[in-house]
Amino acid sequence: MKKAKLIYEGKAKKLYETDDPDRLIIEFKDEAASLDGRKKGVFKDKGIVNNKMSEYIFKYLESYHIPTHFEQTISDREMVVKRLEMIPIEVIVRNIATGSLCTKYGCKEGEDLRYPIIELYLKNDELNDPMMNEYHAAAFGLATPEEMQTIERYATKINALLKSFFIRRKVRLVDFKLEFGRFHGELMLGDEISPDTCRFWDLETGEELDKDRFRKDLGKVEEAYKEMLRRVLKL
Ligand code: ADP
Ligand code: UDP
Repeated sequence: MKKAKLIYEGKAKKLYETDDPDRLIIEFKDEAASLDGRKKGVFKDKGIVNNKMSEYIFKYLESYHIPTHFEQTISDREMVVKRLEMIPIEVIVRNIATGSLCTKYGCKEGEDLRYPIIELYLKNDELNDPMMNEYHAAAFGLATPEEMQTIERYATKINALLKSFFIRRKVRLVDFKLEFGRFHGELMLGDEISPDTCRFWDLETGEELDKDRFRKDLGKVEEAYKEMLRRVLKL
């Protein structure tokens, strides 16, 4: 597979076209951003961790019949994926109350939620990713009600699978973000699943093992990412 033109450079990844119009190469960078890009950092080998962890989790989800864009890993930082027509919605799944959920709704920090919460946000930095629901998705022509139903079904199943996957690795899956897209009309999971896009708390100590270490200036960011990769690959 030949790497061709750079078509997009985001905060954490670069996308390249290939000699196949249906395939892209994703390159995972060491750069991190938060506060809508106002806070920046570079963490050694973060891109390698995110590439390898995403590969492992996409394969795991595929083995449970969740369609994903993943095709193959071609280097430490690069994977070949199906080129999706992305749906500009961030699908957030929450198992434990933290962050904005507590500020907005007054629930107790660290509390186990009785049922998972699925939230939708419009992926639009200029508008600060406003919260939305499936009616907005249909009204704005982002996705059909049938597609939104499938997205919800996949998100629920992915959460159930990953919650126990991480418990076996002594990690609580607090919350995470998913992005979906269409490949010749078929809905599938895209983007990445990594410490950049999930909150992971150590089951015993409660230690944060994800991007919150960068967001909150807790230090030991590289160490936390490496520890998460070690646990994911171990079993
Ligand atoms: P951001 O755009 O938020 O800065 P990234 O640096 O992670 O984030 O950029 C990756 C971009 O690639 C995102 O806009 C994401 O929606 C998009 N993307 C992820 N997977 C695919 C795919 N399979 N096909 C096309 N685009 C994708
Ligand atoms: N998330 C992400 N990208 C985003 C927004 C959120 O990966 O653009 C992830 C984030 O890492 C966390 C979850 O989604 O695991 C919930 O994030 P949110 O920003 O909603 O956090 P909160 O508002 O709770 O502080």
